[in-house]
Amino acid sequence: MRIIMMGPPGVGKGTEAVILVKHFNIPHISTGNIFRELFHDDTEIGKIAKSYIDRGELVPDDITNEIVHQRLSKDDVKDGFLFDGYPRNIAQAEALDKMLEEKNWTLDAVINFQATDELIIERISGRRVCKKCGAVYHIHNKPPKTEGVCDQCGGQLIQRDDDKQETVLRRLRIYYDQTEPVIGYYKDSGLIVNIDGSQTIEKTNADIMKVLGEMN
Ligand code: AMP
Repeated sequence: MRIIMMGPPGVGKGTEAVILVKHFNIPHISTGNIFRELFHDDTEIGKIAKSYIDRGELVPDDITNEIVHQRLSKDDVKDGFLFDGYPRNIAQAEALDKMLEEKNWTLDAVINFQATDELIIERISGRRVCKKCGAVYHIHNKPPKTEGVCDQCGGQLIQRDDDKQETVLRRLRIYYDQTEPVIGYYKDSGLIVNIDGSQTIEKTNADIMKVLGEMN
């Protein structure tokens, strides 16, 4: 199964991604997570990426496409993968097409999460992530068992710097300007699955599984 998850920041892509990759036993490729790990490991690319992430801007395409290219050359993607947060503009979608062509691979679905701006802002302002393992929580919708502490590893839960209000508004604007057109890019492929991201985590997952089942 080769899946792309699309949709505005905070719509629930990452949370649903974790459930789907477990179900299909495929790797979760989140370019945002890769950049955060590269920064955490004190790499040059990580530092460059962070300067864009902190401003709510997209990391340049040459850097982003290269990390995806490297990721797709690893062994574990042979039986499928799930992209979360890539491609984020048309140039990245074209670059991905080339990478897939080289390997003779085709996509199975482009899942397009939809929600209103109000809901997205509410979701992002309540989002907390584990500083240590990156697990994602929400203060109301998916609270940890103990406030401020990760259920999985006991790490400290924090708010991402780029989840603060001014940066969120910039990320949303960039989403509408650059990322939403990618849906148009895949329009004729027959792969787009529109999903209502305003529902509960379980209902959203049930909808995705139903449509994926019907596609196969
Ligand atoms: P995310 O975790 O997907 O919300 O991504 C966090 C930030 O990482 C984004 O706001 C961008 O600054 C950067 N980023 C993640 N994926 C990409 C991408 N495909 N292209 C450019 N920048 C990205």
